[in-house]
Amino acid sequence: MRTNRVLVIGAGVGGLSTAIGLAAHGCEVIVLERATAPGGKLRQVLIGGQGIDAGPTVLTMRWVLEELFAEGGARLDDWLTLRPVETLARHAWSDGQRLDLFADTRRSAEAIGEFAGGAEAQRFRAFCARAEAIYRTLENSFLRAPRPTPWSLAQAAGWRGLPDLWRIAPFVSMWRSLGRYFHDPRLRQLFGRYATYCGSSPFRSPAVLMLVAHVEQQGVWIVDGGMVRIAETLAALAARLGASIRCDAGVAEIIVRDGRACGVQLDNGERIEADAVVSNVDVAAIGEGLFGEASRAAVRRLPSSARSLSALTWNMLAECRDFPLVRHNVFFSDDYASEFSDIFQQRRLPVTPTVYVCAQDRGDADEVTPSGSERLFCLVNAPATGDGGPFTPLEIDRCQTQSFALLQRCGMTLTPTQAPVLTTPAEFNALFPATGGALYGPASHGWRASFLRPGSRSRLPGLYLSGGSTHPGPGAPMAALSGRLAAASVLADLSSTRRSVPVATAGGMSTR
Ligand SMILES: Cc1cc2nc3c(=O)[nH]c(=O)nc-3n(C[C@H](O)[C@H](O)[C@H](O)COP(=O)(O)OP(=O)(O)OC[C@H]3O[C@@H](n4cnc5c(N)ncnc54)[C@H](O)[C@@H]3O)c2cc1C
Repeated sequence: MRTNRVLVIGAGVGGLSTAIGLAAHGCEVIVLERATAPGGKLRQVLIGGQGIDAGPTVLTMRWVLEELFAEGGARLDDWLTLRPVETLARHAWSDGQRLDLFADTRRSAEAIGEFAGGAEAQRFRAFCARAEAIYRTLENSFLRAPRPTPWSLAQAAGWRGLPDLWRIAPFVSMWRSLGRYFHDPRLRQLFGRYATYCGSSPFRSPAVLMLVAHVEQQGVWIVDGGMVRIAETLAALAARLGASIRCDAGVAEIIVRDGRACGVQLDNGERIEADAVVSNVDVAAIGEGLFGEASRAAVRRLPSSARSLSALTWNMLAECRDFPLVRHNVFFSDDYASEFSDIFQQRRLPVTPTVYVCAQDRGDADEVTPSGSERLFCLVNAPATGDGGPFTPLEIDRCQTQSFALLQRCGMTLTPTQAPVLTTPAEFNALFPATGGALYGPASHGWRASFLRPGSRSRLPGLYLSGGSTHPGPGAPMAALSGRLAAASVLADLSSTRRSVPVATAGGMSTR
């Protein structure tokens, strides 16, 4: 019997996960990646011969990788070394106050008690219970489900579960909901930041995003060799299963025949036919017609106002004095509301930015700190306007000065030892076309947003979708989940037309 051939456009986490899922079930898989290496947003920049992660740095939901490796017949621990951190993050404010959060919530509660008083610690415990309840309500009915709707959630919950569903407070904003738990504005700000993990504003996201706090409390891991090792090992596993991964192979067009996607044409003119095509590129690229007019209507077109956050990032080697950095550090803006109104309403770089610093040579607080210069990644949230006029050098300079002045006010002196590498929304837009530099697909603003993300089946038969701009959402683990859902959809559809492919994938992901 003929083997089904499937093309995957893009070798981000989602595309590589799809490739593993399909190759493990006997499909001939060809991954076509425009860049010189797989990974997409999981990338490094080289400074002074040292690789510094320039994309995701916080790895959560380890079980997603475990299941993915198991699907490919491998053990995660044989391929990657992951070390859990005890200190999730160190948070600092310009008045010199600091607060650490820990994987052990009892330690966090103690720290919060010392920082803001016993009543606030008590409310933190209630907040954790709520975040966990939201997560439990949604793990199977939403995260693992192929295309959830409010109706499917209600069905999955059943009569008994409806009160739980109602308690996830879909119509209340995260900011308002946090105000019920935290009376100290700094804590409201700290926990509101979890909305930015989905590229969104805490002032406009639904309270459901509080579940991100629970996800982080379940564990944050450091990957030996950097986050890019995840992409390298996923690509190696896919290749071991027989997938072919072609880099420097940009796709120019999705070929549509008789109303069905049936192949692609590469930038160099080469045409490849296939039984199905999976796009791991941000869905905005399809909607903007970057893969040709024939596939344009395969997805709903996204207005630029619905885009998630972009960022200004600096990779650097620097000497850091007077502040005890841990792996993940957050330096909070003095005016959170104006930071998000600058980004989402004024569409400009924030005047009062919050700065995230990932110290990539450090682990937990009590580990030996590096002497001399160390590898840092600094990130400030920015509007996804990278396909309009780029920010002027003056605008970028001002934001950089404000960001580094904040670090100074929080007590940290940072001296780069080599010129930092800056990445702007315009550069992110060039790497991830048609996004304006948005790094997380559409923003999760309003209760409907999560249901509007496309599922793995596009409107065009034969064309499937995976990646952070699709369901279940952004973040490396979620993109991996979307990749597995896409593989399961392809397998189910191919098996309904041929008899050669099994319908469901390991790990309980079926699509019907
Ligand atoms: C600065 C930054 C910080 C982040 N922080 C975190 C974090 O701490 N934790 C976390 O979990 N997530 C984080 N994220 C989000 C996370 O990285 C993404 O959600 C996830 O990696 C997206 O994967 P994806 O499958 O959507 O593919 P992408 O990474 O978007 O890859 C898409 C691929 O498609 C390729 N492509 C584009 N056009 C074409 C074409 N025409 N032909 C062929 N190939 C093409 C691109 O080159 C790219 O390789 C961060 C992202 C960024 C950028």
